[in-house]
Amino acid sequence: MHQAVPTDSVCVGAGVAVCGMVRRDDGLVRLSPTTGWVDEPIGAALATELGIDVPITVGNVADVAAFAEHARGAATGCDNVLYLYGDVGVGAGIIAGGRRLTGHGGYGGEVGHMVVVRDGMRCDCGRRGCWETEIGEYGLLRAAGRAEARGRDALLTLFDAADRGDARAQSAVRQAGDWLGFGVANLVNIFNPEMVIFGGTMRDLYLAAAAQVRSRLNSNGLPACLEHVRLRTPELGDDAALIGAAELAFERLLADPLN
Ligand SMILES: [Zn+2]
Repeated sequence: MHQAVPTDSVCVGAGVAVCGMVRRDDGLVRLSPTTGWVDEPIGAALATELGIDVPITVGNVADVAAFAEHARGAATGCDNVLYLYGDVGVGAGIIAGGRRLTGHGGYGGEVGHMVVVRDGMRCDCGRRGCWETEIGEYGLLRAAGRAEARGRDALLTLFDAADRGDARAQSAVRQAGDWLGFGVANLVNIFNPEMVIFGGTMRDLYLAAAAQVRSRLNSNGLPACLEHVRLRTPELGDDAALIGAAELAFERLLADPLN
């Protein structure tokens, strides 16, 4: 990115988006199951590595992507938004009443760890039956009989196989789409968003199983909460987290220009 910046620009801050639980006060990554980080001071480590002397703001990838889509993407002008982001795990960035909802410590929105199956499959977080064990990368690949495969490409290959008529892939995608709608219905009932955005692998899953998602949402969502909810894919695509992290860093400057 820096190559696109004019040479006389001044760097006033840096932002980084992390797949994990980030402490709001200081950006400490409390837990990132995907990378295995526990209590990792990624901001300080990056500053040292990059040799820069500016504040580094750290945010959760779903939170900052929601922030970006709300500020300048699909959810511009919407005050109540749920941005569901998936990679290996699943998380949500929640905008409620026009404000980011991140909870007391900054750890809110971990919707992937809503327990949906009592004593279900083991999750990366160490517990069992979390929503992401059904709709996350591993769950989808496992259901399709591809438990050894890993990564976004493996998922895209799976969606492609479903598209071409592979029965097992289609069944796995339909099942995961049903689970996606199930969780979204619960979230829609709780937060009454006007828009739900599906980002990352949730975008792929939503597009591959939109009928299942809508059907389950319609049967489990409360009619009043469903009245105005729109289902969307991100406008900023995979750049949402990058843009959101930069917005977050800039917000810090705006809030406290002298520091
Ligand atoms: Zn979990």
